[in-house]
Amino acid sequence: MNKNYTSLNRMRDVFQNGVPVLTYHQIRSCPWKARIRGLYVSPRVLNRQLAELRTAGFSFVDLPASFAPDNAQKNAVLTFDDGYSNVLENAAPILKRHQAPAMLYIVAGMLGKTNVWDTVHGEVVGSLMNKEQIREWLDQGFRIGSHTMTHPHLPAIPRRQAMQEIDGSRKMLEDTFQVPVLSFCYPYGEVTPQIVECVRQAGYQTAVTLDPGVNGHGQDPFLIKRFGVRRPMNPLKRLSRLMRGKEID
Ligand SMILES: [Zn+2]
Repeated sequence: MNKNYTSLNRMRDVFQNGVPVLTYHQIRSCPWKARIRGLYVSPRVLNRQLAELRTAGFSFVDLPASFAPDNAQKNAVLTFDDGYSNVLENAAPILKRHQAPAMLYIVAGMLGKTNVWDTVHGEVVGSLMNKEQIREWLDQGFRIGSHTMTHPHLPAIPRRQAMQEIDGSRKMLEDTFQVPVLSFCYPYGEVTPQIVECVRQAGYQTAVTLDPGVNGHGQDPFLIKRFGVRRPMNPLKRLSRLMRGKEID
């Protein structure tokens, strides 16, 4: 199965077995110096991906707490990790156009700052939404969830500190924005049974991973699977990979 999503092409069969949840990060064209190129999807590609799913009969829905079998309707969920300003600027108008609800997972201790957890590894600097921008996101009817205080590697830090990242971020977001924060996103998709327990204890109802796959009946709400979204490979790279017998998305 493909780990990433670019278009419905090779996902049609998989998407029939449960609810797909898609993971986006930045909605902008990929900068020349980007190191993790998969973090960037252009507005044009986002629009095309949503249009394609709608044409194929998918409805976009909020992240549910349980995934009951529903043969009558094909649902898909959209999530945006880290809280980049370009999601408000570039994605929100497209989401509106497609009547798509969306969840933004916010790094609560980094409002109005930048993606330092990536830039220390040489990634291009990206601005994160400040309070006013998050209020605007909420005013437009979209939701927020927590992505910790500082985007740490949770399995690598002491439990007490992990609890502060998980529980403290929820309280801070709820106090600041006066909305319930019921969903959590594991940084780097890193999760252990102990971390799941912390998330449960902190009062969240759902948590999302980066494990690829769709979510069917009986899906554990604290280990929700998601596909990372990638822009389509450029035609030359695609051809070169094909000729070398490599897998393409
Ligand atoms: Zn993240």
